[in-house]
Amino acid sequence: MSGKNASLSGEYFSKRQFLKGTATTLALGALPFPVRRALAGQDWDLVIVGGGSAGLPAAIFAAQRGARVLVLEGSHRIGGTLDRSGGQMSAAGTSLQAEKGIEDSPDLHFEDVMRISKGTVNAELVRLFVDNAADTIHWLLTLGWKPLPHHPVKGEGHEPYQIARYQWGPERGMSVYRALQPKVADLLQQGRLSILLATEATDLIQHPDGSVAGVTARGPDGGRADYRAANVMLATGGAGGDARMFQKLNGAPLYARMAYPYNRGAGVTLGESVGGYVRGIENYLCNDGGVLQDMDYPSPYSASPLTDPAHRPPWEIYVNVRGERFAKEDDPSVDNREHAVLRQPDHRYWAVFDDRILDAAPPFLAGWSKEQTTQAFGQHHMFTKAGSLAELARWTGLDADRLIATVAAYNAAQASGKDTAFGRSHMPLPVAKAPFYAIRLQGFSILTYGGLAVDTSLRVIRTDGTAIPNLFAAGEVLGKGSLSGHAYVGGMSLTPALTFGRLISQRMIRLNA
Ligand SMILES: Cc1cc2nc3c(=O)[nH]c(=O)nc-3n(C[C@H](O)[C@H](O)[C@H](O)COP(=O)(O)OP(=O)(O)OC[C@H]3O[C@@H](n4cnc5c(N)ncnc54)[C@H](O)[C@@H]3O)c2cc1C
Repeated sequence: MSGKNASLSGEYFSKRQFLKGTATTLALGALPFPVRRALAGQDWDLVIVGGGSAGLPAAIFAAQRGARVLVLEGSHRIGGTLDRSGGQMSAAGTSLQAEKGIEDSPDLHFEDVMRISKGTVNAELVRLFVDNAADTIHWLLTLGWKPLPHHPVKGEGHEPYQIARYQWGPERGMSVYRALQPKVADLLQQGRLSILLATEATDLIQHPDGSVAGVTARGPDGGRADYRAANVMLATGGAGGDARMFQKLNGAPLYARMAYPYNRGAGVTLGESVGGYVRGIENYLCNDGGVLQDMDYPSPYSASPLTDPAHRPPWEIYVNVRGERFAKEDDPSVDNREHAVLRQPDHRYWAVFDDRILDAAPPFLAGWSKEQTTQAFGQHHMFTKAGSLAELARWTGLDADRLIATVAAYNAAQASGKDTAFGRSHMPLPVAKAPFYAIRLQGFSILTYGGLAVDTSLRVIRTDGTAIPNLFAAGEVLGKGSLSGHAYVGGMSLTPALTFGRLISQRMIRLNA
């Protein structure tokens, strides 16, 4: 099968290097061109573009089936987004649930996804996912991955499921990486898998009949080579590493620089170049806000406000650039809060409060002490302090008259105990005593909502619904909008990436005899 690859693999990857972990910069970049050319001269059963959450399971399962598999990875290491992912995964009908007496099924999972997303997902893909998600969890368990002891839970950070089917390991995304890595290392050592790092796919090779025949990629020396394959899988992640592509695939700017920097939407460009198309952009949704470091974006991330009223009921009021409140600040539904921020100009708002609130309230930012917060008003671009509301409005760019009217209306509601405008119930103090404070918050997404359209065999399709022969895709390149809809549904990025990568190699690719 891939005996010839075995000797080649040893030249550019060793198990010892793998066990050092993702921080290791592997010497692959220095791979001599003749070796790359030797790999390019072969006929592969499967070339996978991208060695992350979707690409690695695909590589493992295809290699285990005896396929000749080559992974082209643009960065200097494998794992992709797993180095920063929350690692939160959802699945129904797992052994973890059975051990805790939790009754669940793929049908109930499907219903819950439909409920949370209000039916905005691609139902066929969600169906394929929920029917296969438990097997992914069971597979990870066999590889040594373990969830936190009290898991599964119903949710964290996102709209909760009705049944506890949500879990992650102690090192979050890295827990998944540490389960996959030794398996990859074994297959490399046995010569059953080949990986080229620092090798960026730039084009797809297409036969005259439209079917895909391989990948052209650029190595670290800038030289290009063709890798011919019976099947090609695009697993290049989202576009959070490229502001222009992110804007194109989300219809919204890339505000925060948090995604894996090598993910620049290349898979979408490759898929489109052979007739594929993008869907899901209309489902873009921002989160309910964070503090960025800079006014220019994409900006580094600075701090997370505690906006979940279950953990910290709000003391501040939230106003948009017009100086108006726009939501019930203590709405228990994170989905409602996210959609409220999405409707604001530039998805931006300010938490406004006064000196008594600063003194009496628990810290507003996760992990920040009161002293840190107080100091930030003299140092941080997003923190403004002023002697009057008019001055606060001037420094923040808010409409001053509206802000003064908004605060007066809120203070009246606070005094009467009845917020007729929005129905907020937690109103411990008025916003009345100078100095006044504002912290600028930005709603943003780190995930890419628009992605390649595929059928239920995960083949990239054209607008007429026909499949482009030999071309598969999985992971965030499919777009968050397809599997999570116009919402953040828990675990609906990482778990489908792992699951669809596995399915492509287990069930869907055709191997050469
Ligand atoms: C901070 C953060 C937290 C998250 N938390 C969660 C969570 O808790 N739960 C959840 O469900 N989802 C979460 N996600 C999303 C989820 O982790 C990702 O959607 C998923 O890991 C993406 O998998 P992937 O295989 O599509 O991409 P990746 O794992 O990023 O892999 C893509 C790979 O393709 C490579 N590549 C890109 N372009 C090329 C090219 N031209 N040629 C060759 N290689 C290329 C990249 O270098 C990368 O290694 C989170 C994301 C982030 C950023």
